Amino acid sequence: MQYFGIPTCPYCKKRVNLIRTWSLKREGEYKCPRCGGISNIYLSPLVYVFAALAICTGVCIYFFHKFVLDDIELFTCLYVLVPFAAFYILSLFTVYLKRPVIKRVQRPEQKTQREQFGAPGEMLTAQPKKPVQNEIDLNRLVNRIEEKK
Ligand SMILES: [Zn+2]
Repeated sequence: MQYFGIPTCPYCKKRVNLIRTWSLKREGEYKCPRCGGISNIYLSPLVYVFAALAICTGVCIYFFHKFVLDDIELFTCLYVLVPFAAFYILSLFTVYLKRPVIKRVQRPEQKTQREQFGAPGEMLTAQPKKPVQNEIDLNRLVNRIEEKK
C-alpha cells in the first residue's frame, strides 16, 4: 500500500497528473486515461499527521511572533499561512488509488437482498422450529406418562 507519493493507476502503474490529483480528492473514483481502469480514491492516514503538524506550526509561528518578536502585523499572517500552504501541497501526495472490491462487496449484498425478499420464508423457517419444540414437549409428556406408570 502506498501512503505517500504521486498516485499511480493500480492497473497500469501510470502516474496521475498532480493537477488532476487535486480534483480527484473531491471525486469518489478515478478512471485511468490510459487503460480505462476504474479505481477508488483514498487518502492516506498521513494526511491527518500533516494537518496536525500544519495547525501546530501555524499556532507556534503565531505565538512566536506575538510573544517573542512582538511584531504582529498583517504580514505575519502570511507566515502563519505558510504551513497550511505546505499542507495543501503535501496533501496531494497522500492520495492513493486502489482497485475497487465491487465483486466481493456485491455478493453479500445480493445475499441480504435474497434474505429481504425471502421475508415470508422466515416464517417458513420459523415454523419448523415450533414442531421441534412440540417434539420436546411430546418427549416430556411421554416421559411423564412413563414416570406415572
Ligand atoms: Zn491505468
